[in-house]
Amino acid sequence: MSRRLFIAGNWKMNLSPIEASTLATSLSMATKSLRHADIAVAPTSLALTSVVGALKDSGIHVASQNHHLEPSGAFTGEVSAEMLKTTGCAYALVGHSERRQIFGETDELINQKVHAAFRAGLLPILCIGETLTQREDGSAESVVSEQVLKGIDGLTAAQVAATTLAYEPVWAIGTGKTATPEEAQSMHAFIRSVLAEKFPSFVAEEVRIQYGGSVKPHNAAELLTQPDIDGALVGGASLKVDSFVGILQATLENTQ
Ligand code: PEP
Repeated sequence: MSRRLFIAGNWKMNLSPIEASTLATSLSMATKSLRHADIAVAPTSLALTSVVGALKDSGIHVASQNHHLEPSGAFTGEVSAEMLKTTGCAYALVGHSERRQIFGETDELINQKVHAAFRAGLLPILCIGETLTQREDGSAESVVSEQVLKGIDGLTAAQVAATTLAYEPVWAIGTGKTATPEEAQSMHAFIRSVLAEKFPSFVAEEVRIQYGGSVKPHNAAELLTQPDIDGALVGGASLKVDSFVGILQATLENTQ
């Protein structure tokens, strides 16, 4: 079955609200003829309102980068999924490797955040991926399958199908190294087989699996023509209109 491409930009802790809305406005204009894919951008929570405003009527979705488990309460410095939803966000990044590695997020916590996203009406983009050591010691598939299964634990089949998985080998994030199209395809097919074993067949058929890790305009086409790669989660290259739009343009031919 053909799944609609989904290209998302993770702006991380970059861009002030004004800079973020300026980039969003430029993106909205530059992508008017590029609607072969779903598009989303994830600004800092401080810039969500201005970016949602700048993207109004553009069709580009907005994603949050992180949220707390509870809807409200005495959690100084935190933001809830419900609060993010009120800004106009549609998606929620969960379990990015920076959250796992720098902030010590476990699969159990990430699973609770996935549930919190659904509770608030946000669609999670659940990031998974092995480190270089794990790839080299041959445990990449078992690590990724554990991250997937623990991350989606307790979801209904329909919720799993509505979740976007972002396979991001940690060694490829921000390093300029990418998995080869064959390596990425092989892991994506494996992830789909893990889901197929546990859920009704529509889940593995419908779930979108993005690849992330140094996706750039020059390598987007070969990665995104792989049958089980349904889009990209883009870090560095999403911070500039030309490179983000270049990735979208590179994927245009695949879908025509
Ligand atoms: C990311 O941080 O999710 C990412 C994929 O970054 P980059 O594209 O810069 O490797």
